[in-house]
Amino acid sequence: MTRYAIAAPERPSVAIAGAEARFPVRRIFCVGRNYAEHVREMGNDEREPPFFFTKPADALVGDGATVPYPPATADLHHEAELVAAIGLGGAAIPEADALSHVWGYAPGNDLTRRDLQAEAKSMGRPWDMAKGFDASAVCGALVPAARLGHPAAGRILCTVNGAPRQDGDLSEMIWPLPAILAHLSRLVTLAPGDLIYTGTPAGVGPLAPGETCSVEIRGIGRVTTQIA
Ligand code: MN
Repeated sequence: MTRYAIAAPERPSVAIAGAEARFPVRRIFCVGRNYAEHVREMGNDEREPPFFFTKPADALVGDGATVPYPPATADLHHEAELVAAIGLGGAAIPEADALSHVWGYAPGNDLTRRDLQAEAKSMGRPWDMAKGFDASAVCGALVPAARLGHPAAGRILCTVNGAPRQDGDLSEMIWPLPAILAHLSRLVTLAPGDLIYTGTPAGVGPLAPGETCSVEIRGIGRVTTQIA
């Protein structure tokens, strides 16, 4: 056993639907600009290859969490996303083989300080402080692929205080999950416990203190977040 000089931080984890055991999380990767309409609403070119950013694993919050309105922003945004959890690691994974590395799926919300992201983009700076702040990685309960299969289609919805904000379909991804995993595993070796946020459809927008944001993926589940 390794001895540490201070108490070791707790391992981040996410809930598993219908199970007491939790899924331990290693790293969180996110795909940028993966739905054509969202790419256009952000003023970018949809033909670019996929690119990735990360969030710290301890930014995870589960279903029903109350998230404080984060500091240093006046423009907190929701981004409804499918989250894929890696159960089997690998490098340079071929697309044809990629889904066998996925343990399960969850609805997620890639909370974003949009004003800090715009500033980072304009100055050519990293996105970390726009994307990787405390409690920025909302993730609902994982549904095991053993039960669910590997959904390539399905309606993905985001509501704020019950009003529709995002309404897309997983089939509209520019880079479907097998292609994402093939690209990403050529950049880093994927490992069990890694989560991948697969991008958001059009309709991203602001969240105000006191509002309730819900992301639902039909056939997978729903994750609800209250902004304090
Ligand atoms: Mn996103």
